[in-house]
Amino acid sequence: MRITRPRRVLLDALLDTATPRSAEELREGIGEGEDLVTVYRNLDAFERAGLVLRAHAENGKALFHLSPHHRHYHLVICRVCHEAKVIEDCDGDRFERLAREQGYSDVTHTLELHGVCARCGQTDA
Ligand SMILES: [Zn+2]
Ligand SMILES: [Zn+2]
Repeated sequence: MRITRPRRVLLDALLDTATPRSAEELREGIGEGEDLVTVYRNLDAFERAGLVLRAHAENGKALFHLSPHHRHYHLVICRVCHEAKVIEDCDGDRFERLAREQGYSDVTHTLELHGVCARCGQTDA
């Protein structure tokens, strides 16, 4: 993949944070009047290249983050600030087995958890 300057800037914005960001938030962070269509197109390219993974906010909005490693994992995403933590543990094998028992092959799963992070849950602010 060709790393053009806008892509470099976008990657830097993603490197800056462990928090999954929407395309709009990333564009704001870049702050160079990049148009949103280009941001989406570059995020798509990163996703195809395996650099970036797509998560979802509770409302279904796409959130992008750098792929931390290639192991299977799940994210718990704060519904207030979008901070995300990796959960390595996975109970999904059981679901996949149930799907295979229904005759499905090549079964995979995605699972995202949503909650309120410790920081956003504090009420003494
Ligand atoms: Zn939070
Ligand atoms: Zn899993």
